[in-house]
Amino acid sequence: MMALKVKRIEMGTVLDHLPPGTAPKIMRILDIDPTETTLLVAINVESSKMGRKDILKIEGKILSEEEANKVALVAPNATVNIVRDYSVAEKFQVKPPERVEGFLRCPNPNCITNDEREPVNTVFIRESREPLEYRCRYCERTVREDHIRELIRPS
Ligand SMILES: [Zn+2]
Repeated sequence: MMALKVKRIEMGTVLDHLPPGTAPKIMRILDIDPTETTLLVAINVESSKMGRKDILKIEGKILSEEEANKVALVAPNATVNIVRDYSVAEKFQVKPPERVEGFLRCPNPNCITNDEREPVNTVFIRESREPLEYRCRYCERTVREDHIRELIRPS
């Protein structure tokens, strides 16, 4: 089997063990503008641990733990590698954030956050970790782990 070889980055963040096909959603969650950022994206590559996975390397940007934790919404087993001087300086697992603001859509059509005239930014508060569940701060509607991916707003 051929190993996937991707250029090493000097400084930046590598997100590994992402479920296959989630890299574009993660770019959206992290608000990454591909016209302004150097990215190496591997989609649906072989993984000994997961069968298939995505990898996202963001060059020149060190994600904070808070930023990286948002990734847990679609990739609960993601690992984050912070790279400095071509080597991994820090490595951690993501944890689902307590509060999620902005990029999730509320599934309740009558929610104030879906008001076309004056939409309010969504705010979801974590209710439970197992299973992962969030509650809309405005209308109390809850969203579950298996539903979250579909609720990510397109950019
Ligand atoms: Zn709502």
